[in-house]
Amino acid sequence: MLELDGVRSGYDGIEVLHGVDLAVEEGEIVALIGSNGAGKTTTMRTICGVLEPTAGRVAYRGEEIAGRAPHDVVERGIVQVPEDRDLFTGMTVLENLQLGAQTPGARENREANVEYAFELFPRLEERRDQRAGTMSGGEQQMLTIARALMGEPDLLILDEPSIGLAPHLVKEVFRVIEEIHADGLTVLMVEQNVKQTLRLADRGYVMENGEITMSATGEELLADERVVQAYLGV
Ligand code: ATP
Repeated sequence: MLELDGVRSGYDGIEVLHGVDLAVEEGEIVALIGSNGAGKTTTMRTICGVLEPTAGRVAYRGEEIAGRAPHDVVERGIVQVPEDRDLFTGMTVLENLQLGAQTPGARENREANVEYAFELFPRLEERRDQRAGTMSGGEQQMLTIARALMGEPDLLILDEPSIGLAPHLVKEVFRVIEEIHADGLTVLMVEQNVKQTLRLADRGYVMENGEITMSATGEELLADERVVQAYLGV
């Protein structure tokens, strides 16, 4: 479904990704893990068209998407939940959701998708008329995920969805990821919460200093001595 091949990318002439190979097959949950500054967010930004790679290939359903405008990538079915929540804080929950329906198809199904979002996140329905900026961090994070779903993605990209959340909300976010995946969505996620993520993921990649250093099933990575030492705090 998604394939990165030898991708080099970065900021203002500073290369951060030094030839990244990564693939996501339809129906999978794929995790990208790595320490701070490894280049995970840069990888996501490059997939989503925010950054243009200086070399390599990003293909989605067989078509090159590297360097395409972000809205073009969204229209093809890739929607990202960014690490900074980026909500319209002065607008209500409902208005934020409605603005997530970015493509003509998504606009057509907007009302049904709002209902779906409220089923996934009952808390958002209770607060549908509350301004997003006055909600708690956890509620804002849920709204950010729900808003991304309003774009009707085939591939959902999540950058640190559980960052800064209390443990019960982390659990809630993981429950929702499991549920939307069961409903047919393919997921690529970056997460600090390595153990829970690898339990959920079909496959995972480890990134260090802008390169992929390991790739295996979630189960294999969980059992790998190097992963345990570096990322599971043992
Ligand atoms: P974290 O887990 O801390 O979010 P990460 O693996 O997502 O880390 P990136 O955010 O991709 O890492 O950062 C990789 C490198 O790129 C870092 O050295 C960072 O300082 C640099 N970088 C990130 N964003 C920018 C930017 N907008 N301009 C210049 N350099 C940047």
